[in-house]
Amino acid sequence: MSLKPNGNYRNLKESYLFFHISKKVEAYRKEHPELPLYRLGIGDVSRPLCDAAIQALHAAVDDQAEEKTFRGYTPECGIPEFREAVAGYYGRRGVTTDPEEIFVSSGASDELGDILDLFDASSAALITQPAYPAYVDASIMAGRKVNFLTACPENDFLPLPGEDTEADLIYLCSPSNPTGAVYNHEQLREWVDYANRRGAVILFDAAYEAFVEGDLPHSIFEIPGARTCAIEICSFSKTAGFTGTRLGYTVIPKELEREGMNLNAMWVRNRTTKTNGISYILQKAGIAVFTEDGLRQVKESIDHYKKNARVLMSALDECGIRYWGGRNAPYIWMACPDGMKSWDFFDLMLNEIQVIGTPGEGFGEAGEGFFRLSSFGKPEDTVIAAERMKKLLKR
Ligand code: PLP
Repeated sequence: MSLKPNGNYRNLKESYLFFHISKKVEAYRKEHPELPLYRLGIGDVSRPLCDAAIQALHAAVDDQAEEKTFRGYTPECGIPEFREAVAGYYGRRGVTTDPEEIFVSSGASDELGDILDLFDASSAALITQPAYPAYVDASIMAGRKVNFLTACPENDFLPLPGEDTEADLIYLCSPSNPTGAVYNHEQLREWVDYANRRGAVILFDAAYEAFVEGDLPHSIFEIPGARTCAIEICSFSKTAGFTGTRLGYTVIPKELEREGMNLNAMWVRNRTTKTNGISYILQKAGIAVFTEDGLRQVKESIDHYKKNARVLMSALDECGIRYWGGRNAPYIWMACPDGMKSWDFFDLMLNEIQVIGTPGEGFGEAGEGFFRLSSFGKPEDTVIAAERMKKLLKR
């Protein structure tokens, strides 16, 4: 008998969302090469890295050129200065973490898949849907049972657990991709209490925390009780534009144990076996992001994207179209007009006004009838796209 591949891959659905979008866009471009396109579909950033990060990158490259400052392998879980900088960032919001609870990563996507090593394959995943597609696919690849909880207008796209909710591993994304919805303290408390009662573990994806304003939580660890039931996965991608630079971090409290096994210690064991650390140069850039200058510069970029979001929201307001998100998140989740299906609405926007968004159905069945607009585009494109949407959709 020949080698047996991981048969769980047979259970994956075709990952067609962005592929299908790019095929449609390419076909349209070929037919209408003269028409400019306005891209509000991407989850990638358009602003360059902030100056503090760039200066740190240059300096760290120079360090590698001198024998005295050269660094070889870095500690697998993160260089101490990096772990302290992240712990300091949490401390600014009154969340106490030990630097040894912070693990450097090469981004949230990598970590969302890798972290599943900590849990037995028999543990079922609970995913609120519409969802970032990686949660479902990484769980299926690991042979895990997946249950869904629907996020919809009736629950403001913020579903809560019921007594009959079954879950071992709970994926929560707040602010959410794709809906832009953000859980408040009371709602997260319900999840934390539920997870502690059940012995479940929450995987809290905080990739968009830097967009949160006011009294809403940035971190699950702002909630009492979270240290015994949660892991937080975060990234510099959307905070500081590191999508192509690649850097993230994961927080695993030392109190987090199941069946007498300590998850923080297990992750140390995992990282020291499966990685040889993350680039010294990148970690230096990450440290610079969390300095006073870095945080100020990063906020300027986020404010710039928020301005785009306001332009889009005001266009939707003028058209009388219902939407969610946009205020504490880079995404606006709009209801397709007249009950249209999301791919039909995608075609309408592309063919009539050359504006490209993301059909909600691509984030799971619960996303049908909705459409995601991103504020990560260039302001000049966003303004034109908003004007065109008003012309097309105003009743
Ligand atoms: N989590 C969510 C919800 C995201 O939307 C994304 C990227 O779009 C990621 C994680 C991945 O982030 P990274 O670039 O750090 O892999």
